[in-house]
Amino acid sequence: LPQEFIAALPILEKIEGAGYEAYFVGGSVRDTLLGKPIHDVDIATSAFPKEVKAIFEHTVDTGIKHGTVMILDQGQGYETTTFRTESTYTDFRRPDEVTFVRSLAEDLQRRDFTINALALKSDGEVIDLFDGLKDLTDHRIRAVGKAEERFFEDALRMMRALRFSSQLGFEIEATTLQAIQDNAALLNNIAVERINTEFTKLLLGKNVWYAILELLRTGVHNYLPGLENSDIDLVGLADLLKQEQIDDVTVAWMLLTFELGLTADDAQIFLKSWKHSNELIKVVRSGLRLLNQLRIKDVTDWQLYQVGTAIQATLKVLDLSELPIESTSLQVRYEQLPIKEKQALALNGGDLTKTLALKPGPLFGKVLATLEYKVVMGELANDKPVLLKAATTIIQKDQQGK
Ligand code: ATP
Ligand code: MG
Repeated sequence: LPQEFIAALPILEKIEGAGYEAYFVGGSVRDTLLGKPIHDVDIATSAFPKEVKAIFEHTVDTGIKHGTVMILDQGQGYETTTFRTESTYTDFRRPDEVTFVRSLAEDLQRRDFTINALALKSDGEVIDLFDGLKDLTDHRIRAVGKAEERFFEDALRMMRALRFSSQLGFEIEATTLQAIQDNAALLNNIAVERINTEFTKLLLGKNVWYAILELLRTGVHNYLPGLENSDIDLVGLADLLKQEQIDDVTVAWMLLTFELGLTADDAQIFLKSWKHSNELIKVVRSGLRLLNQLRIKDVTDWQLYQVGTAIQATLKVLDLSELPIESTSLQVRYEQLPIKEKQALALNGGDLTKTLALKPGPLFGKVLATLEYKVVMGELANDKPVLLKAATTIIQKDQQGK
């Protein structure tokens, strides 16, 4: 058993000691059986939330309405969820209500895929009610029960099937795949944030190539913001990622928007429709400006400079992209830039005011911008006396011009 499970064993045992059932469930069980590292340990129990809270001294109500209580133990938090069923889905998304039950079987039945419906008992026994172990061995993603019904209950599961196939390198079983193809339009009912989470994981998976082709084959892309009818670009993206895995969210979205041929402005609209953060959008915009320029011709040091902190992500995208440009040469050029940011300029606004008695105004900004440009382009040394002299010249010229 991995360290994380061993550390959490006393929790299962304590719940059992109080007369209830408790199991490890979900992704951590699946990943352990696959020999992969795990991140968080989820526990399912027959104890109701109140009962869980009575057993442990330190708990937090993280999702009590859905039966989830976080148990704090030795600086670790363990999400513990009461066995539950989800009933009366009327809108293809979340269950209208959850009902707590005492039976593990009912809880496992509401889970999405057989490989995610395994439970691990404290004594090491694996409870496998839907042949999930066989699907794990055969590398197969198969819905628990009737795929079509399960996607009607929660359409997000279609995206999840695709993302697990990307992450795990598993095939989606034929009936499940057919149900995705037949019901892709149900994704219209799902909040874009939830789709984004799954799609981002898909983009970062090791088998993204296969997952993108399945996405296209099932027509799911037609229900994703801004990806309708982008078949050719997505095939191109899949090809680029045949032997590659992306390890960064920003890189993934920058590469996607680049392959879609978007300008920085269009990418902003696209990413907003996916509800991405302004922070991510800013980085993608900076990167795209440089990459789109590189598509046409070489870039100047000034253009390179303007990429700023987005440089690392941009160089990664360049390497993944079809552009025949080595990122190392650009990286060297970037590192050799005289300054990397405005703040590094050897002369600042204070100097202009103090030494040259220049008052803040349009000329003030123009002087600093000109100096910044010239230093970056290597036309002026980043040296205070040199910059002061240059500033004086700019100011004089400006006054002559008036
Ligand atoms: P990850 O390693 O990405 O966390 P995971 O399998 O743990 O993968 P989660 O989203 O953390 O995925 O969900 C935990 C478990 O809850 C899943 O393994 C599955 O059993 C169940 N589950 C999650 N989302 C759904 C859903 N939409 N429908 C049915 N079951 C779900
Ligand atoms: Mg998880």
